Amino acid sequence: MPAKKKVAKASAAKVARVGAATTSWYDGFAPYKEKRGEEYMNPAQIEHFRKILMSWRRDLIEEIDRTVQHLQDDAGSFADPNDRATQEEEFALELRTRDRERKLIKKIGESLASLDTGDYGYCEYCGIEIGIRRLEARPTATLCIDCKTLDEIREKQVI
Ligand SMILES: [Zn+2]
Repeated sequence: MPAKKKVAKASAAKVARVGAATTSWYDGFAPYKEKRGEEYMNPAQIEHFRKILMSWRRDLIEEIDRTVQHLQDDAGSFADPNDRATQEEEFALELRTRDRERKLIKKIGESLASLDTGDYGYCEYCGIEIGIRRLEARPTATLCIDCKTLDEIREKQVI
């Protein structure tokens, strides 16, 4: 097993935070245990991430369904304009959250497709292995931690 760079550790907290903000996709999934000398993205690992991604996507779809139901139930049930204003704000917030979730579902779909093509788990920019632990923290990651960090620095400079 290759020794992981220190950089990965420094950003781990951030990765975890981003992951936590989205959903608890990891419910019921134990971290993958690599065997000594095991090949990266072998069939067992691919299966591991396929299960995680599919379960995560299923949870998101269920949550969207629940929200749509909730919005339909509540719509038009307030006669008072003040109540209605508050309700509309809540709806707007809900819809923004759903919009994020829909984008995430699309990303998960792309990750699942890359599992089939054999691209999953490798950095889009430099081609190195993203690493199992980073992928478990962020299963839709397409960049290694170094490229991601550079990307974020560049983004900040633009702003
Ligand atoms: Zn990279």
